[in-house]
Amino acid sequence: MELDSLYQAVILDHYRKPHHKGLQSGFDIQVKHNNPSCGDEVTLNLSISDGVIKAISWDGVGCSISMASASMMSDLLLDQSYEDANQILAEFVELMQSKGQSQGNEALLDDAVAFAGVSKFPARIKCALLGWMAYKDASSQLMA
Ligand code: ZN
Repeated sequence: MELDSLYQAVILDHYRKPHHKGLQSGFDIQVKHNNPSCGDEVTLNLSISDGVIKAISWDGVGCSISMASASMMSDLLLDQSYEDANQILAEFVELMQSKGQSQGNEALLDDAVAFAGVSKFPARIKCALLGWMAYKDASSQLMA
């Protein structure tokens, strides 16, 4: 697989114009995660009420994979129920663990299937998962 497959157009689009980036006030919880092996950092603000993700915003610095993935994560999870969001999260984690063997479930992951190629590059998987792990941490604390 070419290294180019890491950087599909949709990933670069989200990197250049990230969605939901810029921390919003009025959150229920804030978490900060980083990926020391690459230098990526993400701070995530999250609000869940009545079991629905009402607000999600993030800020951070890092490589294009980490920033684009956080952007797509926030797009995919906003307005989902906690249960549906967990299903999407699980699908993305499974894709990242697939070692290039999975194309990803587009019905659940939409544009995030573009990260399928990343699963062949172990050093980059943590980049792609950073924002998602921040969400997992924040949401599980809120729903505990
Ligand atoms: Zn990175």
